[in-house]
Amino acid sequence: MVEKSSITHKSSKFDLDDLNWTNMIPECPVYHPSEQEFEHPLVYLQKIAPEASKYGICKIVSPISASNPAEFVLMKEKKDFKFETIVQPLRLSKWNEKDIITFSKRGRKFTYQEFEAIANKAFSNRFCSSEDLSSLDIEKAFWHEMIHGEKGTVEYGVNIEGSVFSCDPDDKLGTSKFNLKNLARLPQSPLRLVDRGIPGITDPMLYIGMLFSMFAWHVEDHYLYSINYHHSGGSKTWYGVPSSAASQFEKTVLNHVYCKKILAEHGENGAFQFLAQKTTMFPPNVLLQHDVPVYKAVQKPGEFVITFPNSYHAGFSHGFNCGEAVNFAIGDWFPFGAAASKRYAHLKILPIIPYEELVCKEAMLIYNSSKDRSYKSKLEVMASYCAIEQSFWHLMQYYKTSLSRLNNSRKSSSSSNTSIGSVTCSLCHRDCYVAYLLCKKCYSHPICLFHDVVPKTCLCGGKYTVFKTNDMSELEDAAKSFEQNDNRHEEKSARRTVNSARAVSSKLKTRLTDNVKHNVEKNQKKTKNRRRNNASPSVMSAKRPRTLYNLRKHESKLIIEAPAISSRFEI
Ligand SMILES: [Zn+2]
Ligand SMILES: [Zn+2]
Repeated sequence: MVEKSSITHKSSKFDLDDLNWTNMIPECPVYHPSEQEFEHPLVYLQKIAPEASKYGICKIVSPISASNPAEFVLMKEKKDFKFETIVQPLRLSKWNEKDIITFSKRGRKFTYQEFEAIANKAFSNRFCSSEDLSSLDIEKAFWHEMIHGEKGTVEYGVNIEGSVFSCDPDDKLGTSKFNLKNLARLPQSPLRLVDRGIPGITDPMLYIGMLFSMFAWHVEDHYLYSINYHHSGGSKTWYGVPSSAASQFEKTVLNHVYCKKILAEHGENGAFQFLAQKTTMFPPNVLLQHDVPVYKAVQKPGEFVITFPNSYHAGFSHGFNCGEAVNFAIGDWFPFGAAASKRYAHLKILPIIPYEELVCKEAMLIYNSSKDRSYKSKLEVMASYCAIEQSFWHLMQYYKTSLSRLNNSRKSSSSSNTSIGSVTCSLCHRDCYVAYLLCKKCYSHPICLFHDVVPKTCLCGGKYTVFKTNDMSELEDAAKSFEQNDNRHEEKSARRTVNSARAVSSKLKTRLTDNVKHNVEKNQKKTKNRRRNNASPSVMSAKRPRTLYNLRKHESKLIIEAPAISSRFEI
């Protein structure tokens, strides 16, 4: 290994001149759903998830194709379509300096045809077009260029709001449920409960690339799933790391990619925060060298690539192409959503979707439909329900403990009911749906119940009151009922061989328990630090409560309103 003090140039770090490692990255699994399976995307994805998630990414080959290709849709259905590109430098960072490669430099505005022309020209300038290049040749050429490049650039149309799935009622793919415009609103999609469209998260975005246009290592917002469809053009190479190796991945970035000093200021979250800027591209051989599992996909037109929750991924294009992507969730995302929510709160990152409200609403739907005979009839639905029930139960346990602790420590504190939905904690930005503290004098500075120590009085001198959601008693009933169900399942499973859905559920339970423990420890540490620092400065800048989630994926913006209080009672 190269000593840190001797690092003078990026290429000395990874011994990149030898590109034979490109042959050593195994392929991710490829699925070929039947037309019948293709009719229920989220059920199908839930079915393959336990196996496919072990690879971080997987490929799904569409059994049907679009009758109207992307170019046709753009010409006929979006006549004035133009998009802006970003300019991407074709070089690696200088790892021993805080050298953040700017991927956000604005490019030019193009029509689809204009961009196609410059993309094809860039390709033929580099490769003789008659050459028969394999995807491995292009992969080697990409990393060779990244290692030795200094001034080369490519342009990439990213995060373009819109879709090129056809609206034509005769287009088979356009009318299918795998049309990414419809995915978020399907009955099994938790994101259907987000009451407005969020581009990139609930509504798809377009990606129009050229040879070597790339996407840097990242995980999805809120650890969501992503689904990417390749409409047309050159292939895309993807690299994916399973979520089970996410912290190993972050440690490797922290210890072996950037100089540790650069990332150390945020402790173990340093790499996560740095990577969240989506500017870190490094070759996957550094992962191979440190035993971080990494898999590869070469995505061609007509193929979907799925990225799993908290799975780091990166990649690049082999030529002019058009892809479309959106986030999605299924039941087994909830434990990841909970972990993301905790991490966001720890790092004071504004949430984009209200996790707590989603888990409560999904749990209530399961609870209310539990008398239905078809309830939990299918294994894949059962796995999904179990994940939601477990995540919800843990959340409610946390609230139960926090509320009783608060009750004991503040004998005179009062409580009110509220129906305003989610608010944002003024200390950690966590979204609170079940309960939170709020000053009754100024109705400002809500504080979540996840802090061990909170100020007794508001900055205005008013007293903090516990506000609980109106459906608190129903939520408590649901949590109790899930606990009883769970106990019954445990008894049965002790007698019987554990079926696959049950295995999924218990795995999730372990993960959740670990997460909760981890969070408690973290909160204790955080509280100690805060005590040392006296008070959190964020209280000063806190705004009035009532958060509406009206956000674009890349620009978090909060809409704040005064709370409506429906009833009051003293405790
Ligand atoms: Zn908080
Ligand atoms: Zn106040």
